[in-house]
Amino acid sequence: MHIPRESYDPQGDAGMAGVSRPLVFVVEDEEDIARLISHNLQAAGFEVQSFVNGTSVLSEAMREMPSLILLDVMLPGADGFDLCRQIRQTSILSATPIIFLTAKTAEADRVKGLELGGDDYITKPFSPRELVARVRSVLRGVRQPATVPEVLRVGDLTVDASSMTVQVDGKVILTTVREFRLLEYMASHLGRVLTRDQLLDAVWKETPFVTPRSIDVYVRRLL
Ligand code: CA
Repeated sequence: MHIPRESYDPQGDAGMAGVSRPLVFVVEDEEDIARLISHNLQAAGFEVQSFVNGTSVLSEAMREMPSLILLDVMLPGADGFDLCRQIRQTSILSATPIIFLTAKTAEADRVKGLELGGDDYITKPFSPRELVARVRSVLRGVRQPATVPEVLRVGDLTVDASSMTVQVDGKVILTTVREFRLLEYMASHLGRVLTRDQLLDAVWKETPFVTPRSIDVYVRRLL
């Protein structure tokens, strides 16, 4: 059991006994790192379920519906990118936020992670405080801004904030959380030229890792 995303309150429920906490899946084969992450997330008020490989993550995620998945890229016998792709192709999990965790720092890997539907990307070594801040930031991004009307219609496109769904010509299109927010922001600012900085502010607020190049990746995917 965990509370639905809408009622997620990172300050409010931290440390309160008897209150269910947002569940985070930690998929990491290096035990020391997994323990460090779990310890810090639990201390910050999250419930943690750890996996040392990717084999049961998908089935457990469908059962437990975690609020967020921290996903190591280099896993024994599997690849975090493949797992991310499978998660994104599973309709009930398609909008579950995913943060990649990896020692790979090359720009190509970073872009690949975002293209596959990762919401953020953390490189090792990282500080536990930074990791917790990133998790909170991505979870905050899941909540809808109050200023945008619930349903936006632009031609054949319908963006529904209450159900976080996008429809084109009546057909539901699967998007990630970031894609949804980007589309929603663009649909609510029709006819305006938006700079990368404006999109960064609106969609990637408090996510220091996103570069203008990442925005290109997202916008290209939505076209
Ligand atoms: Ca690893």
